[in-house]
Amino acid sequence: MDETPLPKALLQQLTPRLPEMLSLLRAYVVTESPSLEKAAVDRCCAVIAKPWRRLKGARIDRIAQKHRGDHLRITCTPASAGKRPSGQLLVLGHYDTVYASGTLRKMPFRVSAGKAYGPGTFDMKAGIVQGLFAAEALQRLSATAQPRKRIVFLWTSDEEIGSESSRKLIETEARRSDAVFVLEPSYGPRGALKTERKGVGEAELVVHGRASHAGLAPQDGINAIHEISRQIARLETWNDLRRGVTINAGTIEGGSRTNVIPELARVQLDLRATTVADMRNLERRLHTLRPELKGSRLEVSGGFSRAPLERKMSAALFARAKTLASEMNLALEECAVGGGSDGNYTAAAGIPTLDGLGAVGDGAHSSHEHILTKTMPQRAALLAALLQSV
Ligand SMILES: [Zn+2]
Repeated sequence: MDETPLPKALLQQLTPRLPEMLSLLRAYVVTESPSLEKAAVDRCCAVIAKPWRRLKGARIDRIAQKHRGDHLRITCTPASAGKRPSGQLLVLGHYDTVYASGTLRKMPFRVSAGKAYGPGTFDMKAGIVQGLFAAEALQRLSATAQPRKRIVFLWTSDEEIGSESSRKLIETEARRSDAVFVLEPSYGPRGALKTERKGVGEAELVVHGRASHAGLAPQDGINAIHEISRQIARLETWNDLRRGVTINAGTIEGGSRTNVIPELARVQLDLRATTVADMRNLERRLHTLRPELKGSRLEVSGGFSRAPLERKMSAALFARAKTLASEMNLALEECAVGGGSDGNYTAAAGIPTLDGLGAVGDGAHSSHEHILTKTMPQRAALLAALLQSV
């Protein structure tokens, strides 16, 4: 009788497959997929889809998009004889990258000293490779060890630009699911999972004043720049780093010439919050701003687009992942991050979500983006173990 715990058996099965994983990663990375270039992204979609066809019984839906790249949904129904799946698990990721076409010429795919470099390796094509090998490893298990739940893999094309075309699909699949695993990059050299993500938003404040000649009729003007300066000074006091609430005036514009009292000024704001309550509070305060200069008028638009992924939505899944990792003799850490992902949407929909389950590496969105190759089988095995046991 084989006494090896399942996570360890999965790791033993996956470790020798690293060369195959790297050759698939190469194929994925050398097909560039900048979010805004539909033709290129669609070409990558076909490349991403191809190896998934070797999964027995998997249903592959290419969900056509008009303006963005197509999304891919792969549905694996467990082979456990005659039994209906007892639920659904969603594995989420994106195959678009932030790099414009042609970036490969400057940063080609290469493997060196245990690292695989290239645009989108870490964020997050290696995650998709790990997802495929996890699915395959599960199929190779005996009938009694098969997952009980249907597993849906969703690879979207526009996460890096806010997921406008994929959000509905993500939320719909999440609501059908008992848990969501997001294969975004992990954090730091030890590959901490992301159990908490800030909510992210953008807002704009426009101030309307009244134009006048600064020399001839200063009494007739209402200076929109003076007003917006007062408002920004107030907004700055709302920052609370300890609570994880930040408001950042990122761009500002207003006025036309020095001798004209400006009638218009605008500022664009980045908003972050760690809890849903703080997010709501920040939005409410923004909308209750009142002008200080008599006769000026404020206009506030925008708000949070991604609600926070609160730790309570991931705590139980992380505990499970940690136990499974320890059965492979691997330590697993967690962390909180300030950036959002599609995991924010699924957590906000009320579905337990564990994020940062993808590659271990560094340099996302930069010229030294890379993954640590030896962690690929480990993370694939961890994902497979989670899918098998949740
Ligand atoms: Zn990403």
